[in-house]
Amino acid sequence: MQLKDKVAYITGSASGIGKEIAILFAQEGAKIIIADLNKEAADATAAELKATGAQAIGVAVDVTNEDQVNASVEEGAAAFGGIDILISNAGIQIVHPVEEFSFADWKKMLAIHLDGAFLTTKACLKHMYAQGRGGSVIYMGSVHSKEASLLKAPYVTAKHGLIGLAKTVAKEGAKHNVRANVICPGFVRTPLVEKQIPEQAKTLGISEQEVIKNVMLKETVDGEFTTTEDVARVALMFAGFPTNALTGQSLVVSHGWFMQ
Ligand code: NAD
Repeated sequence: MQLKDKVAYITGSASGIGKEIAILFAQEGAKIIIADLNKEAADATAAELKATGAQAIGVAVDVTNEDQVNASVEEGAAAFGGIDILISNAGIQIVHPVEEFSFADWKKMLAIHLDGAFLTTKACLKHMYAQGRGGSVIYMGSVHSKEASLLKAPYVTAKHGLIGLAKTVAKEGAKHNVRANVICPGFVRTPLVEKQIPEQAKTLGISEQEVIKNVMLKETVDGEFTTTEDVARVALMFAGFPTNALTGQSLVVSHGWFMQ
């Protein structure tokens, strides 16, 4: 049990990668706050975890809304006695060429990925600093934190930005033993990616199979998707790491799509 009695606030954990992290962290003894826009799905995920004997609650949050972020962090901290781990994971994707991207969609993307990371960090750091037992902040970046792709200007911009935020939090948090790191997955077949396959096929004028083979997995070493389990294992390593030796880092888990 690498996370026994640690409290983890995980955004976007009613689905996909965040949900898998919640499942693994619960198995490792953590108390889980499922923080998601979709409250019904968050409650259902919390119920699934509780059925295995874990402690979990679902809380409603739009990560772009400061009051909702603060209220949901307070609710989780009150339920379980503080916050030890933040996984800032909630995210969406919108794809268009730059010249067709609406300003409204650009702002929406930056709000979810960057404002959401900032607001949840600010709210959770207050608890981590006051508790005096250290902490781990983990941002869900992407290969797009390192590399660009067609049609994804705000996503690529925001995911690169998370590395800057993590490095700053790593420096500021060090004296409180709070670490900050970024996980950079390749393509994972979650609802977020399933939605992109037909969209990209349409925009690029190719088949869905071609999108998978020649766009999404083209640069991997073996043509394989990264899995939610792969990403959750990396999250566990960052969350369970005991010292400031591992902080301010970004780790790519992508079947070799991007090599450092
Ligand atoms: P997903 O669609 O399966 O899950 C995203 C979750 O975030 C959903 O439960 C949704 O309700 C929630 N959410 C969306 N907007 C929200 C908001 N404003 N406030 C709170 N919750 C919100 O997606 P996923 O693939 O699991 O993606 C999770 C993270 O991983 C995202 O940040 C994404 O950019 C990143 N990522 C995904 C992939 C991939 O290939 N799937 C690759 C690299 C990085």
